[in-house]
Amino acid sequence: MVVSSRRNVIMGPKKKVTRKRKPEEDNKGSEVEEEIEGEEPKEKERKGKDKKRGKNKYIGAHVSISGGIWKAVGDCLAIGGRSFALFLGSQRSWQRPPLNTAAAEKFQKACVENGFNPVHILPHGSYLMNCGSPKQDVFEKSQALLVDELGRCSALGLSLFNLHPGASLGSITTEQCQEKIAQAINQAHQQTPAIVTVLENMCGQGSTVGGQFGELRGIIDRVRDQSRVGVCLDTCHAFAAGYDLSVKGGVKSVLDEFDQVVGLSYLRALHLNDSKGKLGCHLDRHEDIGHGQIGIPAFRDIVNEPRLDNIPMILETPGRPGFEDKEQIELLYSLCKH
Ligand SMILES: [Zn+2]
Ligand SMILES: [Zn+2]
Repeated sequence: MVVSSRRNVIMGPKKKVTRKRKPEEDNKGSEVEEEIEGEEPKEKERKGKDKKRGKNKYIGAHVSISGGIWKAVGDCLAIGGRSFALFLGSQRSWQRPPLNTAAAEKFQKACVENGFNPVHILPHGSYLMNCGSPKQDVFEKSQALLVDELGRCSALGLSLFNLHPGASLGSITTEQCQEKIAQAINQAHQQTPAIVTVLENMCGQGSTVGGQFGELRGIIDRVRDQSRVGVCLDTCHAFAAGYDLSVKGGVKSVLDEFDQVVGLSYLRALHLNDSKGKLGCHLDRHEDIGHGQIGIPAFRDIVNEPRLDNIPMILETPGRPGFEDKEQIELLYSLCKH
């Protein structure tokens, strides 16, 4: 599913920094400058009694990069996010102008100043890519775009890159498709430094690969450097693919199954979305948290699940008046028991 916008970040040396708060961040509505000396800058603290709730949970959202990739950081802070996703360029073209060096530096600086760790930032790959395509021209263009995307991650000081695995278009087998995807990843890994390619689970629509955990495992098995591959679990996609998160104990049993088939050590991120469609519908229809078929109890279990500590949990929900990203993040933190 396509989300609104895009942005990026990087880490740098620890030193004295001046952090400029955005007006939304304090009650007075004025800009406050704060000096932090000698230690790594901390992320903005949440207020009042919720300050420590969910301290190991890194909930955030997909944010825009319009107007400059570095602005993603401020947008994330403005909605109370502790993690974020962003696109690394236009979703419409195979060939994109190179990343502006000054913009990349600003992005890295913004991340450092606001205490964002690269492992909590998950760039989302272009929707044009199909690294499993049976069509040679599309496969080659996808492979080149993957190399370009991983290069952008490096330039931004990031460590993860989220990819929709691909689709067989019905003309090759699922295994052949997995083979092609792994081939594209292996080649891209050879050409780029240590970015981890994070495969997103799909909803099993059409000929897409990665709806079943076994298909993700099939790709991982074929990746040469398995320290450089991971998985991002999208709750809407999992539910639409038939994994029932909505029943009592559903979150635990789906994670157990993921652990058995793929391995929890590969789990690098979550996309938090409720689902408009029913269990096993194979439709990629995101819904706001608590307004879909998955429901609040499952999200309560997710934000209280210790196995999901310290990984980015990113909203890609449509939002509705009064219940946009900021309010949905607040709601999720309010569900944390401690
Ligand atoms: Zn989706
Ligand atoms: Zn996605």
